[in-house]
Amino acid sequence: MGKMMVKNIGTLVSGEISNPLLNGDTLIVEGGLIQGVGKEKDLDTQAVDQTLDVQGMTVAPGLIDSHCHPVLGDFTPRQKMIDFIESSLHGGVTTLISAGEVHLAGRPKDAAGTKALAILAAKSFANARPAGVKVLGGGLILEPGLQEKDFEELAREGVRVVGEIGLGAIKGPKDAAPMVRWAKKHGMVVMMHTGGTSIPGSSTVPADDVIAIAPDIVSHINGGPTAISVSEAERLIRQTSLALEIVHCGNMKMIYDVMKIVKEIKGYGRIIIGNDAPSGTGVIPLGILRVINFLACFCDVKPEEAIAMATGNTARVYKLNRGVIANGKEADLVILDAPMGSVGKDALSAIEAGDIPGVAAVIIDGQMKAGISRNTPPPVRKIVITKQ
Ligand SMILES: [Zn+2]
Repeated sequence: MGKMMVKNIGTLVSGEISNPLLNGDTLIVEGGLIQGVGKEKDLDTQAVDQTLDVQGMTVAPGLIDSHCHPVLGDFTPRQKMIDFIESSLHGGVTTLISAGEVHLAGRPKDAAGTKALAILAAKSFANARPAGVKVLGGGLILEPGLQEKDFEELAREGVRVVGEIGLGAIKGPKDAAPMVRWAKKHGMVVMMHTGGTSIPGSSTVPADDVIAIAPDIVSHINGGPTAISVSEAERLIRQTSLALEIVHCGNMKMIYDVMKIVKEIKGYGRIIIGNDAPSGTGVIPLGILRVINFLACFCDVKPEEAIAMATGNTARVYKLNRGVIANGKEADLVILDAPMGSVGKDALSAIEAGDIPGVAAVIIDGQMKAGISRNTPPPVRKIVITKQ
């Protein structure tokens, strides 16, 4: 892989919630990693193979969707659609995290079967990235009969996530808490469905169960799609330090209610953003951008902070070496601008005005995977690419 320079950056969004904007106009990318951040004159720009002059546009880390329900490849049986992951790429998403391959026809509900499915999905997505998107597949669905040695084997075979607890037959604290302890002991990150019943066979999960089971993530605290009460959500926000996920396919009013409390406790570092698609709500290629917009327009969150909730915060929870613009991080980037006709003058002011920004390019591991998005409105400016 050659050396790439991204220059003439107007706004550089870091993905770091504590310091969401960086003072720099240039990135150097080499070997798929960010190897330089700052002013062009201060960086080593020798032997660059490819220069992307982004003409004053905004560069941010590629968006991470913390909650996806893929099965295998780029097809979803839930909405009978192909290329939904490629569509998400065109919404600026460079990583999708599986919350469980729950839509597989005939999904096995025994211990051996659920284990096999998680291992298969983890390995399949590790071998084949749809449209270049990194899918963390194999969200283990907890079913009766799983033993500690199974979690040890799952972790060894590359399964890194326990999908939403509540999708399988293991639901209550008595059964789930020991499995969660085993999963964490073997380095896995645990998600837990919270709120009303999402599909027949899943369950309604109150705050008490979440607190007793102690996952890492309160999945869709704003409902998936039916929300818990505001007072239940408030307990999860104030009485735990769990990551709090906001999803697109949830209850929009609850986003507002949740964020009021989160702001009070200065808990922005705990918020992560997911789509929760494909689901009954559909396939939403711009779902992550739409939640970023909602937070910036209605919840008093700065656009660059909302982007950090969809990048650096999520990467930290899932232990991924991406989602932040810094040396040594995987070079997954999205280049954004105000969409044509917007009252905003750049991507961030367009977001503040409620407009979906135009995606001008999406880069994964230092390679351009999409140019001008087929899904967002067109960006005002165009990248100028030169190759040496
Ligand atoms: Zn759910």
